[in-house]
Amino acid sequence: MFLESANRAGWIEVVCGSMFSGKTEELIRRLKRAQFARQRVEIFKPKVDVRYSEEDVVSHDATAIRCTPVENSGTILLLTGDVDVVGIDEAQFFDANIVTVCKTLADHGIRVIVAGLDMDYQGNPFGPMPALMAVAEYVTKVHAVCVRCGNLANHSHRLSDSDKLVVLGEFQDYEPICRHCFNELQGKEREAKVEADDR
Ligand code: ZN
Repeated sequence: MFLESANRAGWIEVVCGSMFSGKTEELIRRLKRAQFARQRVEIFKPKVDVRYSEEDVVSHDATAIRCTPVENSGTILLLTGDVDVVGIDEAQFFDANIVTVCKTLADHGIRVIVAGLDMDYQGNPFGPMPALMAVAEYVTKVHAVCVRCGNLANHSHRLSDSDKLVVLGEFQDYEPICRHCFNELQGKEREAKVEADDR
């Protein structure tokens, strides 16, 4: 399906899932294969994600690949003059224009591989991810394992109390959980809120 063929056709691949689902590892795996095939690869991420190094896409298992942090999606078009493959990590944090950017790149014969969180901690579609999935030729959903019951996890449950939608963090801030555990927790949180309001 994802052949690193020499003819420049151009298409969009989306790799998405919850926290700890291995989506960045999958992005890196595909990009490294393209590099082995001597293709010119450029990688970008939004500047908001500065958890580790400023210049590397780093996954939790510490496999890293060089990457350029950009302020907004439009900048990507300016920096991809002569490439075969463009990788984009943490795409959920980009502005809505990232969809047009990816389409433009693919229209010009570039293979675009986008990784990001498909849902926020409340279980809602995250930023431009749904639109990216709609225009992509290939969508891969990867899963973590639910820390509570061992089922496949598709939700990122936030452990901290902050009401901010974007909380960047590692193991201490989120845990991957399945649909059923997510619903159970949502129910408990609603009950706790009603009790607090009654007081
Ligand atoms: Zn579960």
